[in-house]
Amino acid sequence: MIRSTLLDADGRQILISNDFGDYAIISNDEFRSYETGSETALSTERLRDLEARGLAKADHQRPRSKLEEAAFNTRKSFALEGPSLHIFVVTLRCDHSCQYCQVSRANLSAPGFDMTSETAALAVDRVFESPSSTLTIEFQGGEPALRFDLVRRIVELAENRNLTENRTLSFAMVSTLHHFSDDDLAFCRDHEIRLSTSIDGPSVLHDRNRPNPDRNAWLQTVEALDRARAVLGHEGVSALPTITREGLSDPRGLVDQYRDLGFPTIFLRPISPYGFALKTRKAIGYRMEDFLRFYDQALDYILELNANGEAFEETYAAILLRHILTPFHSGYLDLRSPTGTGLGVLVYNYDGRVFPADEARMAAQTGDQRFTMGTVADSFDTLMASPAMQWLMKGAVSEHLRGCRDCAFVPYCGSDPVFHATVQGDPAADRRDSEFCQKHMHIFRGLFRRVAEAEPETMRTFIAWAMRKPRDEVHVSGWVDR
Ligand code: SF4
Repeated sequence: MIRSTLLDADGRQILISNDFGDYAIISNDEFRSYETGSETALSTERLRDLEARGLAKADHQRPRSKLEEAAFNTRKSFALEGPSLHIFVVTLRCDHSCQYCQVSRANLSAPGFDMTSETAALAVDRVFESPSSTLTIEFQGGEPALRFDLVRRIVELAENRNLTENRTLSFAMVSTLHHFSDDDLAFCRDHEIRLSTSIDGPSVLHDRNRPNPDRNAWLQTVEALDRARAVLGHEGVSALPTITREGLSDPRGLVDQYRDLGFPTIFLRPISPYGFALKTRKAIGYRMEDFLRFYDQALDYILELNANGEAFEETYAAILLRHILTPFHSGYLDLRSPTGTGLGVLVYNYDGRVFPADEARMAAQTGDQRFTMGTVADSFDTLMASPAMQWLMKGAVSEHLRGCRDCAFVPYCGSDPVFHATVQGDPAADRRDSEFCQKHMHIFRGLFRRVAEAEPETMRTFIAWAMRKPRDEVHVSGWVDR
């Protein structure tokens, strides 16, 4: 199927794409010729180019060739793998009281919020029931380092089990980094547990967003980062910002904070609509258009840095560009069709409940039990056939959804049924009414417009990000579609 979407408000440029991710950017006049079959604005050469790439009007409804089938299968290869990411919420307790994390945490001394050893062992059984050849166990909280004893136990249990399973097994942990002993860090190094922490910006902003008992969260995080890097290596720890309303005012300041701390990337996402109360949302939340203005300014700055020779990545753009400029999927769970919800990730809560996404866990935490798949005592097959999965799968395939099915960005986008179930009340809600769509329309349009401009330094950066190559290894910058 071939779809078309305007790239700018006045309709001067139009993107046409097919199911396999091939695309062309043509002018309004060319598009009219394309639609009517006249050659007045569309040269014979251009028509042949479109034919060669399966984008000619006549290709709209014809059956797929073997080559196209192979391209489609490559792009969607994740669909047959089964859940590869398994998130263990080992405790909900945390000593921080971040404004945007109210429903996902419990007080440090609160009883009844830790996973038991029995629950952990059953969850490990579920992990190995997944058919995926690649398994990542990620520890989250609360603050998972508060139960590092349980983390050790789960890692050892999974490694022992893998002696006979022979999967590609890896570990990750999301942590403030504040609570690691030297022994804990050595264990992370020896078992290759990748650490990820939160840094919301310069110290004043970080401390306001993420209050800890000593009111010095930024300082403690930076000191802990140095300690962790000394044991795990510089690449062993990554970081993510949560962007609150206050953070929107200074995109350069946030990017510079990450550069100053020696991170080669930053991942810019709007604050999630889950996990905090309505009152707080009013205080720290914002409209999507405000985030997109911030995003554009940050991306401009990052592209400027790259053009001046400093390799620095904006990870969300890199994910989208991998979908646009290569035949491969990035693996990113929120941008899959069929969805990554339950099909790519499972979440084992401290109390034994199982969810198809971390956002689903947070929605359930606010009382909406429609997102609960079952418990760790249920078999993998039972969990996958649960009413929660049947409900969410109504919004699993973008190509079938209202809004997306006619959108030229659909080969590069995703369906995210949990977001739409939470915000719009229906996993299959019309995407044209959603902030998810508003965000992606805007970012896709910006990226494709830059691709059409083909400014050499921007293309060198884009290709490096999409191909996951060092920037100085991209020797031929420039053309993609002209
Ligand atoms: S969510 Fe929006 S941008 Fe993405 S494919 Fe659907 S309609 Fe297009």
